[in-house]
Amino acid sequence: MKHTSYDLVVIGTGFASTFFLHKYLSKASPKAKVLVLEKGHFYAHAERVKEMRGEETPFSKLNPASKDTFENHNEKKGWVFSQGFGGSSNCWYGCTPRFMPSDFKMKTLYGIGNDWPIQYDDLDPYYAQVEELMSIAGPAATPFPKNASYPLPPHTFTTVDKILHKEYGNLYISQPTARASAPVKGRGVCCASTVCHVCPVDAKFTIENSGIGVYDDPRVELLYGAQVYSLDLEGNVARKANFLKDGKEHHVAAEVIALGTNALFNANILLNSGDSNPFTGKGIGEQIGLQASVYLDNLENVGGSTWVSANGYMLYDGDHRKDFAACLMESNNAPYFRMERGKWRHIVNFRLVFEDLPQAHNYVATTADRTKPAIHFKGHSEYAMRGIENMKAKLPGILSCLPVEKIEFAEPYESEAHILGSTRMSKTATEGVIDSRLIHHQYRNLFVLGSGSFTTYTPANPTLTLSALSLHAADKSF
Ligand SMILES: Cc1cc2nc3c(=O)[nH]c(=O)nc-3n(C[C@H](O)[C@H](O)[C@H](O)COP(=O)(O)OP(=O)(O)OC[C@H]3O[C@@H](n4cnc5c(N)ncnc54)[C@H](O)[C@@H]3O)c2cc1C
Ligand code: SF4
Repeated sequence: MKHTSYDLVVIGTGFASTFFLHKYLSKASPKAKVLVLEKGHFYAHAERVKEMRGEETPFSKLNPASKDTFENHNEKKGWVFSQGFGGSSNCWYGCTPRFMPSDFKMKTLYGIGNDWPIQYDDLDPYYAQVEELMSIAGPAATPFPKNASYPLPPHTFTTVDKILHKEYGNLYISQPTARASAPVKGRGVCCASTVCHVCPVDAKFTIENSGIGVYDDPRVELLYGAQVYSLDLEGNVARKANFLKDGKEHHVAAEVIALGTNALFNANILLNSGDSNPFTGKGIGEQIGLQASVYLDNLENVGGSTWVSANGYMLYDGDHRKDFAACLMESNNAPYFRMERGKWRHIVNFRLVFEDLPQAHNYVATTADRTKPAIHFKGHSEYAMRGIENMKAKLPGILSCLPVEKIEFAEPYESEAHILGSTRMSKTATEGVIDSRLIHHQYRNLFVLGSGSFTTYTPANPTLTLSALSLHAADKSF
């Protein structure tokens, strides 16, 4: 460390921290001193591709396997993420639909959960900025309001997508995605090879290939292998970040601290620090996803220029959300085959994603090892499970424009890899942990970034929204 005290200490280098820092640096003085503490190390994309091909690379052992970094008290429920520089941007799939305006006011509209302290219109300009920075490919018309067009043209539909788009128009769209549909900023064009966790042509947005440049800024000092375990909280102020590096304890003072370590570790660090907000750690959750395989009568489903080629909103918004969960359909363009001669491609697979609600009996707690949170997860809400039953009843009707032979449903996936809600946003400290600018209700110089902030759990993928929240928080606060 060059200094003992900084203007800003940012913890983690995933989406939440990087977009926050991007906006902060655009406003901060040329003399600002910023320290970034990253628990993991840099593991270059080129080395990841080598590893995927089966080659040895010294980089592969630098970062811990995510499952070794927490205690899981429910082995049936997985929690999937990646550690190291860039966080889960290294393994995400790049699905980036916006939320719907209704997602932010579930209480007012449907009497469910709480309203967010921030609304769609507040986030709209920041959504547009993230879409520009990630070079999102998407269609001209969307079910959510949008003024500017996406920076890249939409990916093309499959045969089945074309039929569903004709039937449902703006409720069935080419998926907005951070997988490039044209060469952009050094990224290749997506070729639908469906291994996005290590995209061989580097087509999806990552922190490494993004060109945002925050970690090259001369005001920023980045320390690798620096694992934060707690903060010094005094009165209403966060004073210091405490971390382990090279087996030793270190302490650094800051005017402002931003936690961006994801919903598990943000909660753990706050609890280790003595944060007594009753909601800290409570309500950890995810959406539920399950696959529907739709067998088609003599219709070849081919084409489609990316992995998730479309999003269907037919089961998403409406008065039914008073009683059961919204569902977002992802048309999954991985190469599924039927094992029957002449019918190999007579199939379409949908990943169906259901919203859930925060529940206090699902929570993050500390353990004897201060670096390792424990996750206690008893199950999804009845509200979400009723959404699945409704979908099963309605899907045959929705797909009646297709020549459907039969539909098979798989069991829900163990994880959607979208960890939500352990430090939820609210208007007041009596309902949540942080405010609309992601500032802790009690510690007014402490930002708690990421999807842990989500007040309710929409079915849409979270990363575009958490990145927009980071831009908004830094823009409104500095
Ligand atoms: C396989 C997979 C596919 C996904 N696909 C999609 C998708 O298509 N669309 C979508 O919207 N979302 C997707 N996601 C989810 C998305 O990746 C997350 O929402 C997003 O990465 C969260 O960003 P974050 O910055 O909050 O946290 P992370 O990306 O988890 O970054 C956290 C950072 O903090 C560091 N860190 C952790 N603990 C400490 C500590 N104690 N001290 C210092 N540093 C620490 C980590 O090393 C990391 O750099 C996917 C996730 C996975 C795993
Ligand atoms: S579908 Fe293939 S080419 Fe496209 S982003 Fe994913 S891995 Fe890369």
